[in-house]
Amino acid sequence: MTPGDPILFVNNVTKRFGGLVAVNNVSFEVREHEVMGLIGPNGSGKSTTMNMISGALKATSGSITLKGHDLTRAKTFENARFGVSRTFQLVRILPELSVLENVIAGAVFGHKRRWGAEAEAFAAGLLERVGLAERITAPVGSLTYIDQKRLELARALAGEPSVLLLDEWLAGLNPSELKVGIDLVASLRQEGRTIILVEHVMDAIRSLCDRCLVINSGTKIAEGTPDAVLSDPDVIRAYLGE
Ligand code: ADP
Ligand code: MG
Repeated sequence: MTPGDPILFVNNVTKRFGGLVAVNNVSFEVREHEVMGLIGPNGSGKSTTMNMISGALKATSGSITLKGHDLTRAKTFENARFGVSRTFQLVRILPELSVLENVIAGAVFGHKRRWGAEAEAFAAGLLERVGLAERITAPVGSLTYIDQKRLELARALAGEPSVLLLDEWLAGLNPSELKVGIDLVASLRQEGRTIILVEHVMDAIRSLCDRCLVINSGTKIAEGTPDAVLSDPDVIRAYLGE
């Protein structure tokens, strides 16, 4: 889908951890229906940026707004209400709940606040969508790694986000699983979802992203189409210098 108007505005955001500046005065916009890749070497501030958008961390300075909602001042749980859903770099599912209940939780605490039978039917549909229809009643402890990834994606989608944050969602998958994963993200892109994709898999970046932002040591160093940024000498140097 062709990207529309910008909906997420990240303005001059800085995050300090004591003396360390993890994210340094970074600004960008994300347009509706756009898949924006956020790339950079390990430790460059990608997850910290995602954490500030999702509300898990508060920015030291700067502002973040989504469709007119000020995420910078929101309480952590409000960011989901305002339309941010995410997956985590290290899978986080609620181990005491079933697969279905995990996704229902995403719907109940999400943007549209679905409840009861409606939330359950919605969650079941999403589990089918990600390929987990047969595991609905399974205890989450019995899931394989890729199935945990599928579950995290279903739970994030259950929040009906305006912007979906995928933090290395494809990491750790073997080549055949990777193909399934890329196809799944491609289907989300096709239906016009707005996504920030933090990823190291360059094939995924090239095939999935409309645009890429590159950060290095917390600072934005490039922005543009995947082909343009991945052939940018500054970007190549940043990766090789890792
Ligand atoms: P990336 O996701 O790009 O690999 P991160 O955003 O996780 O990088 O980390 C950026 C920098 O901030 C790193 O130097 C990391 O060690 C540091 N950092 C991240 N989270 C914390 C934290 N909670 N406390 C202190 N330092 C942190
Ligand atoms: Mg990270």
